[in-house]
Amino acid sequence: MSTATGTLFTISAPSGAGKTSLVEALVALVPGLAVSVSHTTRPQRRGEVDGVNYHFVEPASFQTMLAEGAFLEHAEVFGNYYGTAQARVQERLATGSDVILEIDWQGAQQVKRLMPETCSIFILPPSRETLHARLTGRGQDDPETIARRMAQAVTEMSHYVEYDYLVFNDDFERARDDLATIVHSCRLRTRAQGERHAGILQRLLA
Ligand code: GDP
Ligand code: ADP
Ligand code: 5GP
Repeated sequence: MSTATGTLFTISAPSGAGKTSLVEALVALVPGLAVSVSHTTRPQRRGEVDGVNYHFVEPASFQTMLAEGAFLEHAEVFGNYYGTAQARVQERLATGSDVILEIDWQGAQQVKRLMPETCSIFILPPSRETLHARLTGRGQDDPETIARRMAQAVTEMSHYVEYDYLVFNDDFERARDDLATIVHSCRLRTRAQGERHAGILQRLLA
């Protein structure tokens, strides 16, 4: 792990808080960020593309990957399994690229334990009513799924204290810009800068 030179980011939020649209907007704004594509056993939504939004897999193949140690982290969320495959993330970090994981709080805890230098970010909606309106407005989940996700939201949101940064997604552009500021800030941390500019530091201190 200590050979990795890229910065790893985890971004968590209750379902419907705006995580996916914000990350998409962040990647369009800030160069050098790659989003990890998770594996999941949940059904594909309308408009989602296999291999782009997720790798959609059967529970049996998920379990096989798990047994083979293929996942950096994994969790059961809303009755489905989600996981981040190790290989691609480690490859990217090793080449100095920054990587974003859009994962739940259980996964973020696992990653922070394995790689303590990870920059973790939590996104909250401005109110419960707004969260419900966004889940409904997205128009992709049936009412039962929305009710289950709303019921889980308070538990999920209570984990915000475990994160390095907290962003409120009220005004979309403001929240996106907050995320960009956090990315810049994490990239400027002494350890990251030290690895990036090892040559300069060596010459300066010779
Ligand atoms: P959405 O977040 O409402 O769009 O719903 P999803 O079904 O895409 O995701 C549900 C939850 O699973 C969210 O909390 C995600 O952050 C989480 N999740 C997605 N991918 C992963 C993963 O690879 N690992 C873990 N631990 N959680 C994930
Ligand atoms: P998540 O990935 O956290 O589940 P999404 O990115 O799918 O959330 O966002 C849920 C819905 O809320 C989407 O329809 C999105 O367009 C909308 N949305 C996101 N951010 C805002 C915002 N700041 N104001 C209003 N609507 C938003
Ligand atoms: P999508 O809805 O397809 O995920 O988002 C496409 C783009 O629309 C996003 O990248 C973002 O720039 C913008 N967008 C999505 N939701 C909102 C919103 O609620 N407010 C604003 N201002 N822009 C949004």
